[in-house]
Amino acid sequence: MDQPGDRERLMLALEAAGLEMWENDLVEGKVTRKVTKVFEELGYRPEEAVGLVEDIYRIVHPDDVAQLKAAVVAHVAGETPQYRCEFRLRAKSGAWVWYANYGKIMDRDGTRQGRRFVGVTFSIDDRRRKEAELERANALLVERNRQLAELNETLQALATTDPLTGLANRRQLFEAGEREVLRAQRMGHALSLLIVDIDDFKLVNDTWGHAAGDEVICAVAATCARSVRGQVDLVGRIGGEEFAVLLPEVGMDDANTLAARLCRTIPASPVPLGTTALLELTVSIGIATLTPDVVSVHELLRRADQALYMAKGAGKNCVRPLPRGELLT
Ligand code: GH3
Ligand code: MG
Ligand code: MG
Repeated sequence: MDQPGDRERLMLALEAAGLEMWENDLVEGKVTRKVTKVFEELGYRPEEAVGLVEDIYRIVHPDDVAQLKAAVVAHVAGETPQYRCEFRLRAKSGAWVWYANYGKIMDRDGTRQGRRFVGVTFSIDDRRRKEAELERANALLVERNRQLAELNETLQALATTDPLTGLANRRQLFEAGEREVLRAQRMGHALSLLIVDIDDFKLVNDTWGHAAGDEVICAVAATCARSVRGQVDLVGRIGGEEFAVLLPEVGMDDANTLAARLCRTIPASPVPLGTTALLELTVSIGIATLTPDVVSVHELLRRADQALYMAKGAGKNCVRPLPRGELLT
């Protein structure tokens, strides 16, 4: 401050920038220039402004004390060219208000051995609050996105799953079937499809009621699902008591073996109804396998259905394949 008026100009600039100067005597541990405006902002009376450096820490938020002390120690030790810190101060009301401190030890090499620690304090409460608000908004957004993803997953499951059995529904089966037909044609792989239909199911409903009928459908669905390769084959419910099993890379012989096994397994696992009854069921199965003239999953399903019709005609509880058998027109 060499020129007259320099000090006034500096003070004006500080005030306009919302900065308040402070000065501590590090040897004496005294605050030689207090931040009176900051204390006023915080609701303290002038005589309550802290006079000793050590006392400042009493109104600093407990979570911020360690880093504030560390920043001072680092600068005093000459590790940082400037002391900078952000912390919360307790207002008279008990509220916490964010402030920033920038400071520097003066005449470190001079005769007074760096006892003058000079700096400015300014409120960063608005910024901190906006940051916290933004953080909250972001966290909310992340949570909303998570919920949305979860909801989409649920919707996707609902759109592709049969609610009674948890198997794939018609839509999923047709989509997967279409993909598998194209893939099998491209790769020259085999592809087979079974249609499994519970025999005389109407009788179950008529005798035991619709709820028991549902239990039977679920039991047969579970047996079908258990009998196939989990990651590769797809079992879907395509009608009331009718299931389709898509078997990628499986030719007629293996499909026939699997179907025959299903025909034996289903009656071998009778369904408990009520407390005493055990209902033994049989199924008829139609098989179709991919041939060069089959161009869609619909065609494959149509042929499997024809084969099923033949199985029913042959007395039920049996398997009929196509194209081995006669094509019905
Ligand atoms: P077939 O041996 O020729 O297959 O005879 P079926 O009695 O099994 O077949 P049909 O097509 O005559 O009867 C099927 C019955 O399945 C008729 C229908 O009321 C019943 N059904 C359809 N969907 C459901 C369902 O979700 N739950 C129950 N419990 N019954 C159903
Ligand atoms: Mg039936
Ligand atoms: Mg049927």
